[in-house]
Amino acid sequence: MSFVTDSPVWRPFTQHALQPDAFKIARAEGAWLEAEDGKRFLDAISSWWVITHGHRHPAIMQAIREETERLDQIIFAGFTHEPAEALARRLVTLTAPGLDYVFYSDSGSTCVEVAIKMALGFWRNRGEARTRVVALEHGYHGDTIGTMSAGARSPFNAPYEPLLYEVTRIPFPSRGREQVTLDALERACRDKPAALLVEPLILGAGGMLIYGADTLGEMRRICAHHDVLFIADEVMTGFGRTGTFFACEQADVIPDIACYAKGLTGGALPLAVTMCKSEIFEAHLSQDRARAFFHSSSYTANPIACAAALANLDVWATGEPAARVAALCDMQATRIARFADDARFSNARRLGIITALDLNVAQSGYLASVSLDLMRFFNERGLLLRPLGPTIYVFPPYCVEDAELDLVYDAISEAADRFGRG
Ligand SMILES: *Cc1c(COP(=O)(O)O)cnc(C)c1O
Repeated sequence: MSFVTDSPVWRPFTQHALQPDAFKIARAEGAWLEAEDGKRFLDAISSWWVITHGHRHPAIMQAIREETERLDQIIFAGFTHEPAEALARRLVTLTAPGLDYVFYSDSGSTCVEVAIKMALGFWRNRGEARTRVVALEHGYHGDTIGTMSAGARSPFNAPYEPLLYEVTRIPFPSRGREQVTLDALERACRDKPAALLVEPLILGAGGMLIYGADTLGEMRRICAHHDVLFIADEVMTGFGRTGTFFACEQADVIPDIACYAKGLTGGALPLAVTMCKSEIFEAHLSQDRARAFFHSSSYTANPIACAAALANLDVWATGEPAARVAALCDMQATRIARFADDARFSNARRLGIITALDLNVAQSGYLASVSLDLMRFFNERGLLLRPLGPTIYVFPPYCVEDAELDLVYDAISEAADRFGRG
């Protein structure tokens, strides 16, 4: 086994006392990771939801190599560069009409922080003291203090609780209870919050919880009616995951502010954008310097990352990824159907290329040790799956093939026999 032990590296979301080791990956290609000793892993979660087409897409790698011949990081205040300008123009064309401005940052958490700050700045510059955020139960928006505040409270953020600001949380719109959510949003909007922040159609880290496009559309309408800004966190859902390029398209929703990150460079390099309507940009325009938008990341609009994103958009422009996504949706649909009436699982579900099912176990919750047991079980079989508690989900890169997906679902079935309730 090509393990790293005795390493000074402190890894994310890892209890080192229980998981001291990590597989040391030396090579990645397509849907596969290869460890130093040659052991291979099928990356069935797209390396935490960032890889879209597959690892090391040739056109994206080539664009990165070429950009390194011209630019590295360039200060982005008072200076700009063609990769950032070209990418911003492309994104404005590609996204829903009205999202006319592009603010660059470098991670999902940061672009959501930026969205929240834009919303609060908008109201302040308009002379209204609106600072409250409305968010969905079970939501996840990142791991910084600001985005944790908007996300679900759990053992993950208990130590930081005193620093987290209060948000108005509305219930998740589970099937048959959508009206409860809409009524709660309607009530919340009467208190004049600054914004509603939502993951459209599917809550990722909250357990791959899916809700309907109708409900998303209704939430958008309620916000518009009450003059509450609508922020779509498409960090996970962007770039084909839900079957359409962006999730909001399925509900004909145009957000006031939209956040994109994970798939923006095809997963090759960190880059994020927060896009907004012109009224939000314009609210910050003034002869008064204090009304400017005060935010920057050191690596804002990194030219190499922008070049990777442009190459990624070129790949999409060929139409091939959309066709792959459509095929993968069908491949996933057939496979998850096999578990629909399987008593070992509950809630077999799919949205776009993502499937999920809950293993019926005695314990529940993300910290239930079953998720560690499952992870090890899958790893031993050469599969990279990382259940969220008892929720097993499959989130493959678009290049994955039928036979590879069969390996995943056969292992899930085997895992249920081993770790299920009986
Ligand atoms: C992953 C994720 C984030 C945070 O992105 P990072 O790049 O990990 O900071 C925010 N929102 C959603 C919906 C996500 O899935």
